[in-house]
Amino acid sequence: MRIGLYPGTFDPVTLGHLDIIRRATVLVDKLVIGVAINRDKGPLFSLEDRVAMIEAECADIAAETGCQIEAHAFDNLLIDCAQDVGASIIVRGLRAVADFEYEYQMVGMNRVLNNSIETVFLMADAEYQAIASKLVKEIARLGGDVSRFVTPTVQRNLVAKFD
Ligand code: ADP
Repeated sequence: MRIGLYPGTFDPVTLGHLDIIRRATVLVDKLVIGVAINRDKGPLFSLEDRVAMIEAECADIAAETGCQIEAHAFDNLLIDCAQDVGASIIVRGLRAVADFEYEYQMVGMNRVLNNSIETVFLMADAEYQAIASKLVKEIARLGGDVSRFVTPTVQRNLVAKFD
């Protein structure tokens, strides 16, 4: 069974993330969404909320694609998390050139730590490429419409946060 790990903060999960998840299901039998606890980043949503939103949004994708999808909270090294969940590949999404530089470094360093786990990069559909959780939160905080960036459930949760 081929297992992939898609790590991130998912604060909150966006249509960009979901597009990457859907694309990743083609590559693996089981996709583990690694939800970084990330206390330093001071996430808007609690770990429980971020996991719950991912699970709710991924249920349909799992049913449609036949790929098993589960969320897994992690607070350790990415490469150790990959080993914990039995992943042979790490999936990352690439947006702009800005993502590339950081990802390039991460792969280089992770390779030194564990050379047997391959990282693959996927690009979201053009429509979703510009979406970033950070900007979605900023728009929601200022009362803007985020319906083109997140699902209706996530939108409701965002609106409730800034009410
Ligand atoms: P963000 O940077 O939006 O806060 P995360 O840290 O949760 O998101 O990112 C998890 C992974 O998803 C990263 O590999 C990131 O590059 C990717 N990703 C996030 N948004 C998009 C998008 N709109 N298109 C492609 N990849 C994305």
